Amino acid sequence: MMKIIRKFLPYFDERPTGIKVKALVLHCSAHSAMEMINVLQERELSSHYVIDIDGTAFQLVSEKCRAWHAGQSKWRNMNMLNQYSIGIELSSSTLGQKEYTPKQIKSLITLSRQIIKHYQIPATNVVAHSDIAPTRKPDPGLAFPWQKLAQKGIGTWYDLNNADKITENDVRTLLKIVGYDVADLSAASYAFCRHFVPEAVNIDNDVYHLVDNVYPKDFVLPEKYLPILKAVAYQYQKSSEINLVSEE
Ligand SMILES: [Zn+2]
Repeated sequence: MMKIIRKFLPYFDERPTGIKVKALVLHCSAHSAMEMINVLQERELSSHYVIDIDGTAFQLVSEKCRAWHAGQSKWRNMNMLNQYSIGIELSSSTLGQKEYTPKQIKSLITLSRQIIKHYQIPATNVVAHSDIAPTRKPDPGLAFPWQKLAQKGIGTWYDLNNADKITENDVRTLLKIVGYDVADLSAASYAFCRHFVPEAVNIDNDVYHLVDNVYPKDFVLPEKYLPILKAVAYQYQKSSEINLVSEE
């Protein structure tokens, strides 16, 4: 068990009756953990956990309750993900555009594995804030180590060899298969790249500019990355079929 410092905030409410935790939402913020707790307090927001640069973990809200971290959001068949999720914030001065520290990733892995195991969260429901709010949010950023986490049982990754196992070639349809809200196709495509094709995402050295300019309004997924999208869609389609079977 890892040591977690409790610093409870009053900004939460009850989860609606009958709603089960089935998603893990990962965030970052360009503040130290203590600053972040102050900022959340000022804005009357919260998150279940905050992990500092040095790996220290703080708990702000009981997992039983709905923390206020995701805002307007959609993923697969879920709307407004706060009710379904546990939220974890990581401290990152570059808003996740440069590498996270090994210590904080170690803490994140320990904490996430406990949460995923406890609630039996499907790998396809371990998401970035940018995945579930692609027009509004860039976090936890292109440097977030999704592939490494998938190897540790947190979320899922893809195998390029599977690209040809899916016949669909339409970007919008493929993004929908993964789980994205495709109402804004450029935003969804860019969010997909932040998660799976970081080399396609521009680094913005001005984090204040980045929070207001989350994606290029005319972004089109470069053709050369279509096989990655197909491989990811295959992976998510396969995983969600397994989830459906296990829910029966
Ligand atoms: Zn966030």
